[in-house]
Amino acid sequence: MQFEVFTLLPEIFPSYLESSILQRARQRGLLDVRVHNIRDYTHDKHHTTDDTPYGGGGGMVMKPGPVFEAVESVLGPISLQTQPVAVPVILLTPQGRVFTQRVAEELSRHERIALLCGRYEGVDERIRAHLVTDEISVGDYVLTGGELPALILIDAVARLLPEVLGDPTGAEDDSHAMGLLEYPHYTRPPEFRGWKVPDVLLSGDHAKIEKWRREEALARTFQKRPDMLEHAELSSEDLKFIEGLKSKSDSHR
Ligand code: SAM
Repeated sequence: MQFEVFTLLPEIFPSYLESSILQRARQRGLLDVRVHNIRDYTHDKHHTTDDTPYGGGGGMVMKPGPVFEAVESVLGPISLQTQPVAVPVILLTPQGRVFTQRVAEELSRHERIALLCGRYEGVDERIRAHLVTDEISVGDYVLTGGELPALILIDAVARLLPEVLGDPTGAEDDSHAMGLLEYPHYTRPPEFRGWKVPDVLLSGDHAKIEKWRREEALARTFQKRPDMLEHAELSSEDLKFIEGLKSKSDSHR
């Protein structure tokens, strides 16, 4: 999978992309991230990429010229984009649809994605209206730029790609993957400062371990994110277990 990232601050990207799982995925040819400096697509002496907003007010706005030129020189003229678009051009913006595991799964089905990182007050509206095909927010808060959101998106999508994780089933049980929070993990030693690993995990009985993990995932989700249970795929056994949790919590009130 290939990401084309457009930014005014390309120096932000290497240290994260050159570490750990993303670095290995890139070395193995599973992931390719190309970072393009929007400033390289300016033609004036000062390499201007921003200007004051029409109508007044504080802050600066990213100019349309360099952004259109950068994206079109990499993806081709926007007028030639077919519908539905072959390569989504995603603007990272606090005004976009909120990024979730479902959105990461949806994006992981593309072969190539362009990410546009804003700075200052954001981008000229004509970029949003005529160049961008999707808008994504990483949450209801405002950051200084779209670079961290772009890295979040790349990271979450990359770990869903086949063979990127060492354990091929690694992402299946992750929190949010199945609509539940994940069960708790333990590693050696079996006892630490008097706190023991639950016996079932040392029992070697895989059916019992599976049952324990499912119930822990359900209990955690019930306690921390009950809203998620409304959309999770639940068996009749799960529903019975949740009913038990509900009556326990009602009796403690
Ligand atoms: N004035 C803009 C607004 O109120 O919508 C916010 C601009 S913000 C200071 C600068 C840039 O950071 C944005 O153009 C966007 O690329 C990025 N950004 C900030 N918060 C973000 C978020 N929650 N999700 C995705 N991108 C974000």
